[in-house]
Amino acid sequence: MKEYHFNTTCLHAGYSPKNGEPRVLPITQSTTYKYESIDAMGKLFDLEADGYFYTRLQNPTNDAVAAKIAALEGGVAAVLTSSGQAASFYSVFNICSAGDHIVCSAAIYGGTFNLFSVTMKKLGFDFTFVSPDATQEELNAAFKDNTKAVFAETLSNPSLCVLDIEKFAQAAHAHGVPLIIDNTFPTPVNCKPFDFGADIVTHSTTKYMDGHATSVGGVIVDSGNFDWTKSDKYPGLTEPDDSYHGITYTERFGKGAYITKAVAQLMRDLGSIPSPQNSFYLNLGLETLFLRVERHCQNALKVAKFLESHPKVSWVNYPSLESSKYYALAQKYLPNGTSGVISFGVKGERNAAIRFMDNLKLASICTHVADCRTCCLHPASTTHRQLTMQQLEECGVGEDLIRLSVGIEYVDDIIADLKQALER
Ligand code: PLP
Repeated sequence: MKEYHFNTTCLHAGYSPKNGEPRVLPITQSTTYKYESIDAMGKLFDLEADGYFYTRLQNPTNDAVAAKIAALEGGVAAVLTSSGQAASFYSVFNICSAGDHIVCSAAIYGGTFNLFSVTMKKLGFDFTFVSPDATQEELNAAFKDNTKAVFAETLSNPSLCVLDIEKFAQAAHAHGVPLIIDNTFPTPVNCKPFDFGADIVTHSTTKYMDGHATSVGGVIVDSGNFDWTKSDKYPGLTEPDDSYHGITYTERFGKGAYITKAVAQLMRDLGSIPSPQNSFYLNLGLETLFLRVERHCQNALKVAKFLESHPKVSWVNYPSLESSKYYALAQKYLPNGTSGVISFGVKGERNAAIRFMDNLKLASICTHVADCRTCCLHPASTTHRQLTMQQLEECGVGEDLIRLSVGIEYVDDIIADLKQALER
């Protein structure tokens, strides 16, 4: 596709109907595909021809949406997953095996932290968690001989730390491993991690990409920039895959190797594909991503300024505020806005936070975040309740932290609701 503005890409990338075809991306609600000869189908199984044979591996609706997201992130290929959790898991598992080590920012979504530090640990993966603010020396010290990847969030959920992507990319590359970035909160509207040296990007598309809280989903995008063949660290990509007719992914697919392996091997064996119906909803969300994210950020900045000036609010963390310790990094990596998510504390700690939330009328209490409707959450008693006090502290989640996800309603209505709840 010709280089269009991001907003135009949101609407048009991934699907270009030909003469007489549906204008809107069709939902191919079919698990299977018909062929007229065994030979034609055999070529698909050998990955010698392009085409569809079973939706667990590929589906036209899913592929169109994946191609759109790859275009938005500036990557070479992408695969949709049934959840953000599946995307996080597959992004690492595609290049790491039991016994391998991964360096990971400690400031990540609680579910990802649990996946890595409990479930994947049980499977034999070893994670070292580092501060998102680690110095280059501290980062370097975290690597081991068997380190295979570095994982971090651009803008962490819920602590809103802005990652110095270039610093993490340099450390990863100095040790011959890729940097995987979960870019869920900023979305490519606000930050394109590939421009700063990240190699793989993941998303929980459940958040801003869908934007309407209709469909759980995820995506993994490959920049195509990491050279897997430079070392012997990634035999799964650089040596024949006996489970797939002896294909060597890097030889056969070049820059498409990582995503092809994720589809041909991980989706084949583990599943976790989205339903085409959900991908259709995701596509509708993506069509307005640019408009929505811009409005989320405008509203959130106004709300953050209001909260900062309110006597009952003890602190406000919003990286687009000049008072934020991440302001300089936000200006570098997210100059057009960070996201609609603000965290703050109400004077009076945990009980005051709960009273405030119970008194909201427009904003709803939801686990969800990054929805077009304003909502809020108390992470310490919900999403992060499985963590110890020390782990909460390491993730930057205090007991008084309220996570407010500012929606795209008329901003004065949002502020009026917060004001009346604070007054109570
Ligand atoms: N990554 C981030 C930053 C998230 O906020 C979430 C969910 O909140 C996930 C990953 C997991 O995504 P999902 O809920 O779609 O599985």
